[in-house]
Amino acid sequence: MRLTILGCAGSVPGPNTNASGYLLEADGFVLGLELGNGTLSQLQSYRSPFDLDALVFSHLHPDHCADFGALTVIRRYHPHWPDGRPVRLPVYGPADTEQRLVNLYAPNEPERAETDLGDVYQFHPLPLEPFAIGPFEVTAYEVLHPTPAYGLRISHGGTTLAYTGDTGVCPALDELARDVDVLLSEASWTDADDRPLGVHLSGVEAGQLAHRTGARRLLLTHVAPWTDRAKIYAEARTTFDGPLELVEQGATYDI
Ligand SMILES: [Zn+2]
Ligand SMILES: [Zn+2]
Repeated sequence: MRLTILGCAGSVPGPNTNASGYLLEADGFVLGLELGNGTLSQLQSYRSPFDLDALVFSHLHPDHCADFGALTVIRRYHPHWPDGRPVRLPVYGPADTEQRLVNLYAPNEPERAETDLGDVYQFHPLPLEPFAIGPFEVTAYEVLHPTPAYGLRISHGGTTLAYTGDTGVCPALDELARDVDVLLSEASWTDADDRPLGVHLSGVEAGQLAHRTGARRLLLTHVAPWTDRAKIYAEARTTFDGPLELVEQGATYDI
């Protein structure tokens, strides 16, 4: 499978960097993971937004779903809908995803009565049992964040990627990341930052997770724009001695 980074700034977009967004492709299927601020622009520089076959949200903080309203406009009003593309895009997320995203797009009752987005999307709560999205086998693990949030373990053809989403340290992460080929882990803050518990990981904690679970490669993402990326890398290096990178917007990784 191929991973493309549409944006990797943590919590908010930074100068010329988008918030969270990723594509995962295999067998011609294009799975979107998150659609944070600015990522729809990056997606269009790479391929048509109609190429998306499904979209998954780990949780519904704005830095992970802010461009969803813009995608709705494209899917509803674009005058040249390509032949053969799904009219109703499957969208997976926490149980209240449909309600929250519809409210984001149509903020009052009369508007919602006109448009519940059912013309352009099919919403699905993330199941807690393994399930299939196209050629991918997906397992969602509830993680620790101030809103319902999930990490995603995604397999294809004997290869597995684990994506932490946003999370503090919690036991579910060990199951999520066990023996994966690639761990795409958030590392929002340095260990030295004065920070609330149960919200995000530091570079040290992301490295510890990769080491503990036997992850074969660690990709760090969701570094906040006010955080020193070199420090995050150095922290993870102290706790994980395998292949390690900070992801870059626009980069692709063959997994
Ligand atoms: Zn975030
Ligand atoms: Zn979040």
